[in-house]
Amino acid sequence: MKRITVIGTRYVGLTTGSVFADLGNQVTCIDIDARTIADLRQNILPIYEPGLHEVVVRNTAAGRLHFSTSYQEGLREAEFVFIAVGTPDDGKDGGADLSQVCAAAKSIAEGLHQPVVVVNKSTVPIGTGDLVTNIINEHRRHDVPFSVVSNPEFLREGSALKDCMQPDRVVLGAADRAAAETVAELYRGLGAPIIITDLRTAEMIKYASNAFLATRISFINEIAAICERLGADVTEVARGMGCDVRIGPYFLDAGLGFGGSCFPKDVKALMHMAKDAGQHPQLLQAVMDINADRRRWVVERLQEHLGELRGKRIGLLGLAFKPNTDDIREAPSLALIALLQAAGAQVAAYDPVAMDNAGEETTEVEFCADAYGAATGADAVVLVTAWNEFRQLDLAQLRDQMRRPLLIDGRNLYDPAEVLQLGFTYVGVSRGAAAEINSDSEVTIPGQAVGR
Ligand code: NAD
Repeated sequence: MKRITVIGTRYVGLTTGSVFADLGNQVTCIDIDARTIADLRQNILPIYEPGLHEVVVRNTAAGRLHFSTSYQEGLREAEFVFIAVGTPDDGKDGGADLSQVCAAAKSIAEGLHQPVVVVNKSTVPIGTGDLVTNIINEHRRHDVPFSVVSNPEFLREGSALKDCMQPDRVVLGAADRAAAETVAELYRGLGAPIIITDLRTAEMIKYASNAFLATRISFINEIAAICERLGADVTEVARGMGCDVRIGPYFLDAGLGFGGSCFPKDVKALMHMAKDAGQHPQLLQAVMDINADRRRWVVERLQEHLGELRGKRIGLLGLAFKPNTDDIREAPSLALIALLQAAGAQVAAYDPVAMDNAGEETTEVEFCADAYGAATGADAVVLVTAWNEFRQLDLAQLRDQMRRPLLIDGRNLYDPAEVLQLGFTYVGVSRGAAAEINSDSEVTIPGQAVGR
């Protein structure tokens, strides 16, 4: 049993703290948000993550998991302190905003009474391990030894608990290898490969991993755009590619592009670091440009079918940046809503869990009780997030609610033939001959008109 303190109690911090508690350690999670801590003490979680509630409740009841707003209280007897605070886009030139990390490091320094290993789990620019070391040296009140270890987190929202319990790998970086070895011991029970390297390399592994995954998504979206011109089906292309063991099937779903709290900001932060170091990040720039195009693709398809969008009612199915999360940070839905509203359209939307969060980021969106509500009176429905509950919709009922039966399937969730049979005009993402099937059974591929 080790005594672990985790700073930050959302996707990364709460999940990490809960998993370490579940492994039998004594864990205290600290957050500066008093409301979040008060809620957590009542077993109310600040985020939606499948399975996490049960683990929090179990470990709180067993006396292994505690919550506090006080560093003084939270750091008492701590042997390991994990930093899991946010590192958002700085909103200026794509760099990471390190203010939360710096504030956490300062508070750790001020509350330190015993030797600790400070473990940075936040995604931070290369060199931040040294920055944290300097901040602690500058602000500590007692002359106690400490080490800083980088331990980037790779969990995915929507499966955070599973990813934390069964990581593909654990990456540790440190100047002091013995400190990294003590952190490795915390993970030993999980059976994952453990990679121990230096601080900067560990920090870079995280950025390179996210940038690569984002690149795969933009790659298949570029292929989709070409397929659309040439009449090939990108879903089959991706399947055919994915069977090659050198390629693999993951992150090859063409659609509305990536979003979320990590890929966009991490690609931008890596570009920023590259430019600062005198290296032009030409591939990464293309990855971001292609991603932005995917949101515009929806508007273009709507205009193609509806003409002027002013006064048209568009129903959106899904707002979260991906299924199984309520996170809407950088979600395609937000960019799409902005584009639609700028074109004068009225937007109605439904999401199983993300409507509260979306309400804080948007204005004049009508939030509906279900998918059929979002379709009511709509000139088109756009499938934005591939939630499971949208797979089994009663599409005939959906159609009956709509003013015009135009379905833009932004995630290629539906079988074009089935949707066509129900009388929809169907627009999928580069579905080849089925790319655009009008309800009067005419197939058009942009650039070509194909009768059926
Ligand atoms: P988040 O922004 O959702 O939550 C951060 C939490 O830290 C908030 O509750 C905030 O109140 C708290 N906080 C901020 N400053 C604090 C301070 N000084 N002291 C105590 N608490 C403080 O963050 P997240 O999504 O959990 O991500 C955390 C880090 O992990 C980020 O760097 C992110 O890039 C990285 N990461 C996130 C994911 C993900 O899927 N969300 C996956 C891997 C890595």
